[in-house]
Formats: sequence, C-alpha cells, structure tokens
Amino acid sequence: MPQNLLALNWKMNKTPSQAISWAKELLAGLPQTSAELAIMAPAIDLQGLGWELKDSPVKLGAQDLSPHESGAYTGEISAAMLKDVGASYAVVGHSERRAYHAESSQIVAAKAASAIAGGLIPIICVGEALDVRERGEQVAFTLDQLRDSLSQVPVLGAGEIVIAYEPVWAIGTGKTATAQDASEMADAIRSALVGLYREYADGVRILYGGSVKPENIAELCAQPNINGALVGGASLDVASVVGMARAL
Ligand code: 13P
Repeated sequence: MPQNLLALNWKMNKTPSQAISWAKELLAGLPQTSAELAIMAPAIDLQGLGWELKDSPVKLGAQDLSPHESGAYTGEISAAMLKDVGASYAVVGHSERRAYHAESSQIVAAKAASAIAGGLIPIICVGEALDVRERGEQVAFTLDQLRDSLSQVPVLGAGEIVIAYEPVWAIGTGKTATAQDASEMADAIRSALVGLYREYADGVRILYGGSVKPENIAELCAQPNINGALVGGASLDVASVVGMARAL
C-alpha cells in the first residue's frame, strides 16, 4: 500500500507573505501523521515556501505547468523552473482549468508528460460533472478522461504519477461523494491502471477530492484504493490541515 498523500490545493489564495506566515504556523505545530503532506501553492508563492520548508517533511507542488520544456511561451512556467524552487509535484487537469481554460485531456496528457520529463510527479485530476452522474455514466466518463490524460505516459516506474478523482459536483459545494461512491470509482481507476501499467499500478496513489475536511477524511481514506486526498477549502486553515493530518 502506498503512503497516503494529503495534498493541499490552495487554488488562487494566499499572497507570498501570507504563504510564508502560514508555513511557519504549520511547522510550529506539525502533527504526527502517517501521511505525506504537500502544498499545491500558487506559482508565485513557491520560491518563498521552498526556502521555508526546505528542512521539513512538507513537500511542495504547483497547480499547473507548461506542456513545453522552454522557449517562447509567454506567461508559462516550466517543470524545470518548478523543480528549481523545490517543487516535487504538479497538479494537471484540475476541473477548474479544464472548465475555465479549455484544457482538453490531450493538453493534460502533454502536461503530465512534461512534469515527468522534468522530474516532477503529476497529480492528474479526473472526474465527472453532475449531469454525467445523473445519467449513471460516471465510470465510463471518468475512465475515458483518465486514459486520454495518460496517453502520453505510456510506461511507468513506481510512484511516478498520482491520480486525483474529483467529481466536479463535490468541489467547493459541501457535497462529498459517499465513501462508497468514491471507493467504487477508485476501484475502477485502479483496474484501468492495472490494464495500462500492470505491476506498477499498485504503486500509484489514487486521491479523492471534493469537500474533504477533518470530519470525513478518515472514512474516505480507509477505502482500499484511496490513498489520500486533494483538499481545497479546508486546506487554507492550519487548524483544519492539522486535523486532517492527525486523522490519517
Ligand atoms: P474543495 O475541497 O474546496 O471541495 O476543493 C476540492 C478541490 O478542487 C481540490 O483540488
């Protein structure tokens, strides 16, 4: 069983100075936990956080990255730049980027490949919208999105990718998928990964995301194929992060 990952997606919150104060507060009361903690911070916060967290067990990640290695791509940030400031992870294909920045699974696939080539672990997000679930098509939809988003990751070494199942209807709404719904999808994702990567599939962490909080994280992460959580709203407050970490 891979180690649980508690990935904190701050989204577009916290200025660089707020990020540093937050990190100091967390480090002052770092809880006992079996999980790996990682902050997915806005790109501009990463360098300061990198210095602040350098001797700590807390890892860093970006919320996005360029599919390109370098060159004339105004406004973009490469895997090498993220690596240089201490990032270990990069979220790719978050539903907010798919929805507001028209990111297709093909673009997500290129970003995942770019992360791996640059030495980062991509956290590849998939998940259905409410209308898809209401039609009962959530598994087929999510697995299609998964396969397309992995189309440029043909082979795998252990632990090179993380998958986050985030049903869009559960993000920021207070509506969490039941542990059973999340577990069924995680099982389906694991089977698809076994089809793609055989023995390496067992080392891939599958996270659940969508209204995770201290009160529900333990039950969600107790499911056999759920290996952690990707947390939005509840990641902004140190006390709730400590609560979630303690519950794992
Ligand atoms: P919430 O935890 O705010 O629902 O957000 C989930 C999410 O989008 C994490 O990436």
